[in-house]
Amino acid sequence: MNTDPILEARGLTKEFNLRQGMFGGTTRSIKAVQDLNFHIGKGETLALVGESGCGKTTTTRMLLRLQTPTRGSVRFGGEDIHALSGAGLKRFRSRVQAVFQDPWSSINPRVRIRDFVAEPLVVNENLSAREVDRRVHEALDAVGLGPAHARKYPHEFSGGQRQRIAIASALVSRPELIVLDEPVSGLDVSIRSQIINLFKDIQQEYGVSYLLVAHDLATTRYLADRVAVMYFGSIVETGATDDIFEAPRHPYTEALLSAALPSTPGQRRDEIELRGEVPSPLSPPTGCAFHPRCHKLIGEVCAQRAPELRARGGRDVRCHLHDEKPARVA
Ligand code: SF4
Repeated sequence: MNTDPILEARGLTKEFNLRQGMFGGTTRSIKAVQDLNFHIGKGETLALVGESGCGKTTTTRMLLRLQTPTRGSVRFGGEDIHALSGAGLKRFRSRVQAVFQDPWSSINPRVRIRDFVAEPLVVNENLSAREVDRRVHEALDAVGLGPAHARKYPHEFSGGQRQRIAIASALVSRPELIVLDEPVSGLDVSIRSQIINLFKDIQQEYGVSYLLVAHDLATTRYLADRVAVMYFGSIVETGATDDIFEAPRHPYTEALLSAALPSTPGQRRDEIELRGEVPSPLSPPTGCAFHPRCHKLIGEVCAQRAPELRARGGRDVRCHLHDEKPARVA
């Protein structure tokens, strides 16, 4: 794996304006994602994990250029993706693809598999029909399906096969980055591991990078090289997958992972119950956003001062427990 960044997010922030009250009312700005900094290396898998509402979806939408950041930038291959237009934008659309959770929702039931898989090529590249057919067969082959499948319709396939077709469509333009957004959540447990292994094989064969968004921590552990844990729109911890799973440093990561199965059979791990819900962006907590739920609260400092993301022994952690000088209790 080459760790030269293929994608870099710097200071990525997204705010939404919310109108409150009748007859015009007032407009409030709500932060969905705040000051995210991360990169994805060539051939690397970065996982974004966190509960629903933590900002993962907004982040992936900005990386796919489906949403414009309020501040900050996303650079892909050195270019600011939100400044692209024309041929540059088409090139970006070919080089970055996505596989989503529900294979049915992304496949039009009246379109033959050949045309569905070929769509990214037809939209973004100028190739002859013969070359498109060749690339479609190549992509189907990569996901374990034969050329005869190209003439069929989606209803002729099982859920697992439809996800393979969605992966073929993501692969057909030979992308450098694929966003995997809950890619196995909609599948039967019995076929999840086949699809997860397929992602691994594809990465080894083509050197593609993945951004994985998954609730399923077992999938994350198996596929990801690095993990970024998000809480309330911010990254609270990031590091190598094994380090984070073996010894989480942020109390939120600790609680989140305590529910995951240990990697070593017999290894003891007490589950930490996460109290309450993710706070509402309409009334964000003061200080550390996690303090109303934290089981390791130091004292008033947690409610008074927002911790910064600091590098600590190969890890970045946002918690006063890891400040250079231990935070003083006010
Ligand atoms: Fe918990 Fe305080 Fe660390 Fe926040 S800063 S995670 S409240 S210990």
